[in-house]
Amino acid sequence: MSSRLDVFIDRMVSQRACLDFAIAETAAMAGPVFELGLGNGRTYHHIRSRVAGRDIYVFERAVASHPDSTPPEDRTIHGDVTDTLPETLAGMGPVASLIHADLGGHNLEKNDRFARLISPLVEPLLAPGGMMVSSDRMYFDGLMELPLPAGAVEGRCFVYQKA
Ligand code: SAM
Repeated sequence: MSSRLDVFIDRMVSQRACLDFAIAETAAMAGPVFELGLGNGRTYHHIRSRVAGRDIYVFERAVASHPDSTPPEDRTIHGDVTDTLPETLAGMGPVASLIHADLGGHNLEKNDRFARLISPLVEPLLAPGGMMVSSDRMYFDGLMELPLPAGAVEGRCFVYQKA
């Protein structure tokens, strides 16, 4: 049986593998990258160090990140994603080349309910060819779920793409 430490390590390793894969796959796209859930800022810091030539916007309701991993104010979209995702779609349209979501906590049922709630808000934001990496299974109508890249652990991360 996996310990909580095993699960945590698998999640971190999978996040990195899936992000690196999706960043590389979308590297030729010009549209912005959206980070949903800043937290400590570790994945934002990773994305920022790997993504070149694309704007990175961070969606967060309560910024409390490490100072080295805090996005500039003009790239921070404050508020609850159930409000800010539709507002961003209205303002920017379907432009995102990559969306990463790590919004959940320790309650898996709650995480699943929230993933179902925001899936229809995330899906229209992606540009054609755009990818989504999520720590939770998402419930999309039109996106394709991709096989995980080498190094990622089944069930710890999910990768989707808009045709
Ligand atoms: N990936 C981050 C890292 O590497 O440090 C950790 C993200 S942490 C698990 C989840 C973050 O999502 C928290 O900062 C929380 O405030 C944010 N969050 C959760 N639900 C949200 C919501 N409905 N709207 C906006 N932010 C939310």
